[in-house]
Amino acid sequence: MSYKADITIIGAGVVGLAIAAQVASQDTEVYVLEKNETFGLETSSWHSGVIHSGIYYPEGSLKAKTCVAGNRMLYDLCERYDIGYSRLGKLIVASSDEEIGELNTLLERGRRNRAEGLRLLSKREIKELEPNIEGIAAILSPSTGIIDSHALMQCFIAIATESGAQIAYQTKVVGIEKATDGYRISVEDRTGRASFTTRLLINCSGLHCDKVAELAGIDTVKAGYELHYCKGEYFSLGSSKSKLVKRLIYPVPPPKITGVGIHLTLDLDGRMRLGPDIQYVDSIDYTVDNQHKQLFYDSARKFLPSIEYEDLEPEMAGIRPKLQKPNEDIRDFIIRDESDKGLPGFINLIGIESPGLTASPAIAEYVRNLVKELLAK
Ligand SMILES: Cc1cc2nc3c(=O)[nH]c(=O)nc-3n(C[C@H](O)[C@H](O)[C@H](O)COP(=O)(O)OP(=O)(O)OC[C@H]3O[C@@H](n4cnc5c(N)ncnc54)[C@H](O)[C@@H]3O)c2cc1C
Repeated sequence: MSYKADITIIGAGVVGLAIAAQVASQDTEVYVLEKNETFGLETSSWHSGVIHSGIYYPEGSLKAKTCVAGNRMLYDLCERYDIGYSRLGKLIVASSDEEIGELNTLLERGRRNRAEGLRLLSKREIKELEPNIEGIAAILSPSTGIIDSHALMQCFIAIATESGAQIAYQTKVVGIEKATDGYRISVEDRTGRASFTTRLLINCSGLHCDKVAELAGIDTVKAGYELHYCKGEYFSLGSSKSKLVKRLIYPVPPPKITGVGIHLTLDLDGRMRLGPDIQYVDSIDYTVDNQHKQLFYDSARKFLPSIEYEDLEPEMAGIRPKLQKPNEDIRDFIIRDESDKGLPGFINLIGIESPGLTASPAIAEYVRNLVKELLAK
């Protein structure tokens, strides 16, 4: 490779692909570089698949704004491109009087974030909607849904490649050097090592974003970009339990939102699963520890008393790229051009954990605006 690209995107997860779909055009040379043999093999395949409504995140944060906007954009994309989805709604259920205060805080925050149609339900109303769920009050979020995330990524690829973008698999970025008008990128691919220049560089490398930022010389500790892996395991519930609920069921989350609490989700085939839990880990490892089954059972039994311990089977795990360490306050997505670090045209996306799937089209729109400003300079 010795050519010059206009825009190079590192990472073919849902975020990199959403950006490719928005920045690709016939007069812009766009490349997506992915180290794996195909798209979406990392975090974008190991998640709950939920289209969130935007309740949990601090008002004015990028998480809140891109989640609420992304929710609407995803439903539009699903309709327009025939992507599998279901707007089945969700309940956040309070199981004790102590949780009512936090439930009200969530309701207010969600409304301020402009999450659609939120409503407080009484114990009786919970029973009317979900006879198998126990709770003393709940928030109903009608705009929460589920999506076929694989089909979404395929849709982004089709839009991007029809507009001329190219995706190179088995191409790992191993070097980034500032050049006169952009960056010289070194890659390792099937044929060995190669390099090329690009005017703009967008780092969407998920769990590896901090390492990729370091390749360009950024001190990630000083910049606050250091990632901490946070594993989330899931247990599936047997098919005999698949008709127990019609909506997604969440507990009231613990005070510092490191996650949203072990919840009950449905997939598009109606299968139920519980998860994810929260475990900070040192390395990327997707195995599920059966010894954690009791924790899942105890968490779910609070709102779904009819499940039995034997119903739970280890299913899968995902890893969150978290900016905050355990017990630290929630951190926002970092999405920024690094001009102030002497690296103009290098856009970093760091800490794109949940609601990154929901937010992906809105994150892409945000990045497209940054790109427009940079190309106009
Ligand atoms: C347990 C769990 C549950 C979740 N549930 C939800 C949910 O219900 N709803 C929701 O909205 N969000 C959810 N999320 C968040 C969502 O899954 C992520 O935010 C989203 O998938 C992140 O996508 P990404 O493209 O940034 O990262 P990734 O999918 O990880 O993609 C990054 C890509 O970059 C590639 N890459 C890395 N380094 C290099 C390199 N040097 N060269 C080339 N390629 C490289 C990787 O191979 C990878 O394919 C969940 C996440 C987890 C972990």
